[in-house]
Amino acid sequence: MSLLHASSAVASAMGAQWLPRPALEALQLRRLRRTLAYCAAHVPLYRRLWREAGVTPDDVRTLDDLRRLPIPSRRLIEEDPTQVVSAEHLALYRSGRAPIRRSGGSSGGPRLEIHADPASWRRLDGFYFRALAAIGYRPWIPMAYFWSAPLPRSRFGLMPKVHVPAHLDEEAQLRVLESNPGIFWYYHPTSLFALAQRAPERLRQARPRGVVSHAELLTDSMRATIEGALGAPVYDQYGTSELNRMAWQCRVRRGYHVDADSYVLEILDDDDRPVRPGEVGRAVVTGLANRMMPLVRYELGDLLVASDRRCACGRTLPMIERIEGRAADRVRLPGGRRLSPRALLEPYGAIAGLEQLQLTFEASGAARFDYAGAPDAAIEAAIRARFEATCPGVALRVNRVDAIAKAPTGKRPMLRNERPVDGRFTR
Ligand SMILES: [Zn+2]
Repeated sequence: MSLLHASSAVASAMGAQWLPRPALEALQLRRLRRTLAYCAAHVPLYRRLWREAGVTPDDVRTLDDLRRLPIPSRRLIEEDPTQVVSAEHLALYRSGRAPIRRSGGSSGGPRLEIHADPASWRRLDGFYFRALAAIGYRPWIPMAYFWSAPLPRSRFGLMPKVHVPAHLDEEAQLRVLESNPGIFWYYHPTSLFALAQRAPERLRQARPRGVVSHAELLTDSMRATIEGALGAPVYDQYGTSELNRMAWQCRVRRGYHVDADSYVLEILDDDDRPVRPGEVGRAVVTGLANRMMPLVRYELGDLLVASDRRCACGRTLPMIERIEGRAADRVRLPGGRRLSPRALLEPYGAIAGLEQLQLTFEASGAARFDYAGAPDAAIEAAIRARFEATCPGVALRVNRVDAIAKAPTGKRPMLRNERPVDGRFTR
């Protein structure tokens, strides 16, 4: 990729975020219609589904018209991903040489790999940079990445990287961060939280200029604990393993800006209607960049809160209000009420001395709370009191452990649900 290509992707993304809203929507609609026409010509699943539904891309004349297209079952794509591979790119797909994004699959479904064509991969760089620039990042400032795989080399000497391997324990992570003071961090919130609870004074001495949290749910209480330790703001980003980062916080840190020039993100109720601002719904996304495996109205499996907020920063990119977590991780209480992952986890981010946590709802209906932290009876008492307040009537065991295992990706699941609730979303 040439410097010219890189700068043009960045310039285009940087400009779009300030467009008057009608111009931004016109740009999004243009890209959407181009994507749909491409799918109708080249992608077997959409050709078949749209024919069966009696619709064509020409029926999509406005952004709202997107709802006329069916939402494919996620299971259908997981079982045979080649159905969403463009005929044009099938040979490159089969060669295995295209960049890949992976997803864990929906509740036990097969692992889904989304391959991207190289041109779309390059365009994503512009969107990636835009979100960082919005929090004061500049391309000559190093960024520490808490990341499992080796990092790609920085190109043209720009965006220099410091690797914090995700398998490192807290002490080893702190040493890397302390020896690189004054830079930006790109981190998983559960790991930041563990550092903040264990060694706030050392974290503060590492003086990050800005901290991006991504890849896991960040509750408000965890955020407050991390920011209190750092003395610096945390900017959360929302993405999925299939589709990169899709929404991000600017310096205002209220809600998330959606990369609307790269995705159409819908937030829908059980009847596939858009929810009102402030309401929770399921995330359904259409990618506007990837031509190798285009995803049109793809069910992400996440719960989001819709927003009609106009951000004080002046960017016109539409917003989502909040991330509620995976729909499959919701828990049904004995009275029938369902709680989102955020509602289940929010109480625990402010317990002093609690460093790592994992709340499991077992198939038997009981719950188990594993935690790592100081040997302090007050921690267990606080966990019990908060659990009883949020999940009344559910039996609880609390175990102190040395550490809660991280996945190879560095994620440390805070919630495990062995009894997923049904597919309906209304609470
Ligand atoms: Zn903003």
